[in-house]
Amino acid sequence: MKPPFDLKLSIIGLALWLTACATNPVTGSPNFVTMTESQEIGLGRQYDAEVRKQYHVYDSPELQEYVNQVGQKLAHNSHRPNISYHFTVLDSTEVNAFALPGGYIYITRGLITYLNSEAELGAVLGHETGHVTARHSVQQISAATATNIVVQITSVFVPGMNTAAGSSLTNLLGNALLSGYGREHELQADHLGAEYLARTGYDPQAMVQVLIVLKNQELFDAEIAKQEGREPRAYHGLFATHPDNDTRLKQVVGEAQSIARPNSVENREAFLQHIKGITFGESADQGTIRKGKFYHSELGLTLQFPEGWHIHNLADRVQAQSPTNDAGIELRVANKATGSPEDYLRKMKWFSFGENIESLSINGLPAATTETTSQGKPVKITVIYLNNKAFLIVGSAASRAVFDRYHDNINATTTSFHPITDAERKLAKPLMIRIITAKQGVTYAELARSSPLGKNAESYLRLINAQYPSGEPAQGQELKIVE
Ligand SMILES: [Zn+2]
Repeated sequence: MKPPFDLKLSIIGLALWLTACATNPVTGSPNFVTMTESQEIGLGRQYDAEVRKQYHVYDSPELQEYVNQVGQKLAHNSHRPNISYHFTVLDSTEVNAFALPGGYIYITRGLITYLNSEAELGAVLGHETGHVTARHSVQQISAATATNIVVQITSVFVPGMNTAAGSSLTNLLGNALLSGYGREHELQADHLGAEYLARTGYDPQAMVQVLIVLKNQELFDAEIAKQEGREPRAYHGLFATHPDNDTRLKQVVGEAQSIARPNSVENREAFLQHIKGITFGESADQGTIRKGKFYHSELGLTLQFPEGWHIHNLADRVQAQSPTNDAGIELRVANKATGSPEDYLRKMKWFSFGENIESLSINGLPAATTETTSQGKPVKITVIYLNNKAFLIVGSAASRAVFDRYHDNINATTTSFHPITDAERKLAKPLMIRIITAKQGVTYAELARSSPLGKNAESYLRLINAQYPSGEPAQGQELKIVE
């Protein structure tokens, strides 16, 4: 989270308006696409700028260089070696990777922490390179979108405030790794990725291992969802079966295996050495979420969101959505605090507040609040001044009845805003990955007892070491732990 920017982004339409003909780099056969290569690269560059606004780039030149080196080797062995590829690690806790048209490829540090070898990193980058070489996204962009990059934000919160929860790039691309392009394109990207791994000297089996990593995330989320009494997130819904049992996946990886070098490598040690020290969970400038509570040391604040709500910590705001997605509460750093909080609200011109602005003090901080409607939807907006900054808390709901139901939740979150205490600052400290060598007989339960990861520590430790749901460390095994 950082001070706001103007988020303007267009939506990659899913409609297929096929108007021109070109040759597909992978199949070599004519393929209907709307764009020339230079248009494709231009579009990638444009979206890249949006990605860099929405996400922070992870601040480790060494890790960026390592990931880029692995990616460039694969791209060099791909069907489109002649365009420039850009591999970037994003400072996000999401477990994700995605590709933009024209060779812009991203992997989150959230995903990197769950990988266990350079070959697995290569599998992710190779899969995304496959989307680029087969021009999947290009095929999905409509002629209208390609020639006329329209700004179109459908807000589920408050229009005019650049709230983009419904269509932000995060949501737009959030599921791209597995669901963004549909099953056929995904399988083709797995196939191409495995082939690029084989041609680069990595073991193509790493593609299956990566899909197991993602499948385990899904299984783990189902476990957590049960604990929290919510629906599991269907974010890798493409695999009804476990990747181990997926016959088509086995077939495409098998084909890559047949061209693999006899001395293909995984480079597990090198990978672990490069990722030690990487942040696990939220980083300092993003703030930390623990048990629905948001802590931000740099901004000096704490806020408690309602229990069971789904919290997204985005680059410029924190959003919480009700379990049934019909209400939201959002926190953002608005601007410099000028004038009184009441004046501040009055100046937010896109609302017609009338005179019902109430001045108040929230935990000793000057504040003002109002309830209004925006496009027929009820909204409660509160501005709170802290350290010369104005913070906005916006609660909204799909209808009046829903708003009334969540009114107490919205009020409780709003009035929980307070300057961060010293004790909370300690809780807000970011965690990092360390590498240890497993002693004889050590168990994940034992490691979990001294872990800061809370009640699910044992599962997290198994997940990051690819031993979920019931594996145990072997003596001498290099293990990732979180400190
Ligand atoms: Zn994909």
